[in-house]
Amino acid sequence: MLANTLELVSEARRRGVAVGAFNTYSIELTQAILQAAEHLNQPVILQLGVASVKTGGEPLVRATVVAAQRAHVPVAVHLDHCADLGMIEQCFSWGCSSALADGSHLSFAENVALTRQAVALASSYHATIEAELGYLAGTEDGVTVEAVKASLTQPEQARAFVAATGASMLAVAIGNVHGFTPNPPPLDFERLSQIASQVDIPLILHGASGLGKENVQRAISLGVAKINVNTEVRTAFLSAIATWGLRVGPTPDVRRSGQDWLDLMREAIAAAQMVVTEHMQTVAMMP
Ligand SMILES: [Zn+2]
Repeated sequence: MLANTLELVSEARRRGVAVGAFNTYSIELTQAILQAAEHLNQPVILQLGVASVKTGGEPLVRATVVAAQRAHVPVAVHLDHCADLGMIEQCFSWGCSSALADGSHLSFAENVALTRQAVALASSYHATIEAELGYLAGTEDGVTVEAVKASLTQPEQARAFVAATGASMLAVAIGNVHGFTPNPPPLDFERLSQIASQVDIPLILHGASGLGKENVQRAISLGVAKINVNTEVRTAFLSAIATWGLRVGPTPDVRRSGQDWLDLMREAIAAAQMVVTEHMQTVAMMP
């Protein structure tokens, strides 16, 4: 069933666990994520990125919402990293439960202004706004340690930001980065606990691909209640497709067993589902 994001995340926080939020790009990835959630009987969040919404448009967004409605577990549909209020409103009108109004690249005052407008917009749709303070580094080379440090979420500023915006959830920058990191960066857990002591809304951790179970669970124990995973799931899906291609060769013969579209998708879905299952167990089964 389609769920309210804030309710899912708040309930997880009360129980000392987190909700996994996984990016989807297609009906097949949505299926992989929902099958994992249904097998574990856990709530989950389906996330759509701005590029996917631009590509797939209303059909993709509505298909994702319908999939959530039909699921046997509570499922929220979330628009990830969006600075465009028009797109946020459009997604709410198509049934999305929440959005990250991302002003993290703006000045503090501009970020406050954008987030406030998004919060006002969301209230008329009973939707939830996640905000982001502090800038999440990408994995590009040339980022200095000082630059990363300067971009981390400042605890006192977080308090002022939440009070000024009325955001319901806050994405933090504590050394986490987007993309898969084989050697995960050290997370600033001291900073995370300071942020948690300054704000009383659920905190969100982006870039959990490759962070490892221990880091993720420690973040949850300090107040993180939504964990975003994208790269790892997508890569599993793509790897399964690549492996299939190597096995089948350049000219699939659709009359032969294992070489047609649904065969390929079945393999890719299974691979992605396995990765989602692993992350869902990490976030929901705290030691
Ligand atoms: Zn993110």
